[in-house]
Amino acid sequence: MPPPRRCCIPVCDNSKNGNSKHIFHAVKNGWKPMLKNLYGISCNGGSKICEKHFEASMYANMMTGSKRLLSTAVPSLQLPPPLAFNTVDVETTAMTIDESPF
Ligand SMILES: [Zn+2]
Repeated sequence: MPPPRRCCIPVCDNSKNGNSKHIFHAVKNGWKPMLKNLYGISCNGGSKICEKHFEASMYANMMTGSKRLLSTAVPSLQLPPPLAFNTVDVETTAMTIDESPF
């Protein structure tokens, strides 16, 4: 028996029970830093994200009527509030950033 499909977005209904009615997409490596840094969501290798988090424009229109994510698609809908919005003190935010882009 495969494990139930669940969404790795904590605020998503599909993260608790799984729901086979929804399409689940494997988490791309490119999404992981964004999810971690912006939302504090850690997605492991087997994580999936359900279709609720993607705008319609992020899907290619297939002749068959099936949905296929564009390679440039990123999850943007029904995500938890970005971490920065939870922090009142801007200076504290700056001090907690320890990864230099240089
Ligand atoms: Zn979801």
